[in-house]
Amino acid sequence: MSSKISNSAKSWINVETNSDFPIQNLPFGIFKTASKSARVGIAIGNQIVDVKALFDLGYLHGLNIKSSDLENCYLNDLMSNGKIVCSQLRHHVYDLLEESNDSLKNNKEHLAKVIVSQNEATMLLPVKVGDYTDFYSSREHATNVGTMFRDPNNALLPNWLHIPVGYHGRASSIILSGEPIYRPKGQSKPDPEAPPVYGPSARLDFELEMAFVTFEGKPLGDSISTAEADDYIFGMCLFNDWSARDIQSWEYVPLGPFLAKNFASSMSPWIVTLEALEQFRIPGPVQNPKVLPYLEYSGNKHIDIKLQVLIEPENGNENLICQSNYKHMYWNMNQQLAHHTINGCNIKCGDMMASGTISGPTEDSFGSMLELAWKGTKPLKMDDGSERKFINDGDTVIMRGYCEKDGIRVGFGEVSSKVLPAK
Ligand code: CA
Repeated sequence: MSSKISNSAKSWINVETNSDFPIQNLPFGIFKTASKSARVGIAIGNQIVDVKALFDLGYLHGLNIKSSDLENCYLNDLMSNGKIVCSQLRHHVYDLLEESNDSLKNNKEHLAKVIVSQNEATMLLPVKVGDYTDFYSSREHATNVGTMFRDPNNALLPNWLHIPVGYHGRASSIILSGEPIYRPKGQSKPDPEAPPVYGPSARLDFELEMAFVTFEGKPLGDSISTAEADDYIFGMCLFNDWSARDIQSWEYVPLGPFLAKNFASSMSPWIVTLEALEQFRIPGPVQNPKVLPYLEYSGNKHIDIKLQVLIEPENGNENLICQSNYKHMYWNMNQQLAHHTINGCNIKCGDMMASGTISGPTEDSFGSMLELAWKGTKPLKMDDGSERKFINDGDTVIMRGYCEKDGIRVGFGEVSSKVLPAK
């Protein structure tokens, strides 16, 4: 029988005060080392617990998982066992790491096999994403974009307060933090009076987002309610949904985002479970007009996640350019999932759903360059004296996020990608 995870618990593994990965977090990822094949790991402090090694040494006896779920290039096989099994595994690892438990702690031979320094590990894309959906659920972001591109007095389109608006993105170009991207090329129409032109995007942007990963959903034709949604969500990661604004503004009518969005989206390597985030839940905004019954929900379904975006120019320093919070979302994950499936659309194990750009109410909390530099009219100053309207070649965009309450910090690490010149 596994214990309840306690806020006063500590691990016998040293965890620095500001670590994103205390024993209350225990996020899942996929890693390999010079001597270990790709496998499931759980982060603790700046170490990784090799879950496959735990299995081989008999520590996971009684859990309904197979060796092949753990020695694997993705978390999908483990996730396909469902929420209860994944939760049992996490609680089991919690017990082993808790400071009063001597079983693993005092076995030097086993420790050498189970505990891996994050410095010696290579993280891999943790989820084989089948389908990727991107929502547009921040009211501030939708209002800012509507103000810039349409009518400041009527920035939100008529459906926005009734529907968690979204579109189907592209799963094949979701990449792991650390992998660089190439500046995309495409069509744009910089001069409204002249024909369109082709070339590297001149308005490359990031979008500060969070994404959630799903367990296997219901069969085609069935729906997941807002009350059921938590049971279908494995966990969350940081997500940079790269966007080419010049390509976007020319192509998006009438069917929405296409090549401006599908060239890359970067994700952080650790999936933080919904369970670990539970204590950071907060109420959401009052939704007015009242939503349709299938979008109503009860309880606190928003989450207080502090978010930062930084730009590091080539050979330069990190420049903090945005501080936002996931709590600013208008539509929560439960509503997004309920809406996604209300027509009978079936979600699968390993689907990814991104929040949409997370902008807060203040100018320094906007979640994209488009908004921060207000369509290029208010360039941001870097500490080297250079200015940014959008993202330059050689820039690295870094996003970090964590929850913190009552001295407990549960974080996501970071997602970081460098922009290389167009190929
Ligand atoms: Ca997006």
